[in-house]
Amino acid sequence: MTTYAFPPPATPSLAIADSETRFPIRRVFCVGRNYAAHAREMGSDPAREPPFFFMKPADAVVPAAGMLPYPSATSDLHHEIELVVAMGAGGVNIDASEAEQLIWGYGVGLDLTRRDLQAQAKDTRRPWDMGKGFDASAPCSPLVPASRIGHPAAGRIFLEVNGKLVQDGDLTELIWPVAGLISELSRLVALQAGDLIMTGTPAGVGALQPGDRVHGAVAGVASFDLTIGPRP
Ligand code: MN
Repeated sequence: MTTYAFPPPATPSLAIADSETRFPIRRVFCVGRNYAAHAREMGSDPAREPPFFFMKPADAVVPAAGMLPYPSATSDLHHEIELVVAMGAGGVNIDASEAEQLIWGYGVGLDLTRRDLQAQAKDTRRPWDMGKGFDASAPCSPLVPASRIGHPAAGRIFLEVNGKLVQDGDLTELIWPVAGLISELSRLVALQAGDLIMTGTPAGVGALQPGDRVHGAVAGVASFDLTIGPRP
C-alpha cells in the first residue's frame, strides 16, 4: 500500500444526470477553432487543417451551476459554449470508425478564456495555459450517458447572456466531428477512460461581466444556468 506525505487530493469528477454515481475526470483536452465562423472571428482561415489541442487541469472542471467565480488576472473573461465528450475507454491510433464506441457520454460546458492573457501569449509566442487553464475554467453540466441519448451528430448549440442570444450554432457545423477528433487526439496521446474533450465553440464569443446570467445548451444533450460572481 502506498503511503503519501499527506492525504492525496480528491479525484475531480462530474455529476451524471439522474444518478448518484459520479464520472471521474482524468484529463481535459480542448480543441481550437472547430467551427468555421469562429475560426474567422479569431482571425484565421477555417480551411480544413489538422485540429490542434490544448489542455485544462482536471480540477478546472466545476459544476455549471450557481455562482461561478470571476477569475483573477483578467479584465476580458470570454465565454465559449462547447459540446463536451466524456470517454469511457481509450486507446492509441483509434480509427474514426471505432471512436464512438469508446464514448461514455456527453455534456455541455464553457471553455472559459482569459482572452487578454491568451492574446498576450499569442503575441509573444508563449503557451496559452494561463489564458485557458485557470481555476474553474471548465464549468460543465452533468454528463448524460450515450446509452441514454445516443451520439448527437446534429443539434443546436447556443449560449444566452442575460437572456440575449450571443452564440448560436449546430453540431453539424463542426469542422472535425467528434469521431475524427478522437482519432486525431489518439495519435498524440493515449486516451483513457475519464478523459474529457471540449470540442470547440461556434461564433459569437465575447466577454462576461460580474453578475451576468448565463444559459447554455446543446439540444438533445443538456443545458445549464449559472451566474458570474464578483471580481476577486
Ligand atoms: Mn474553445
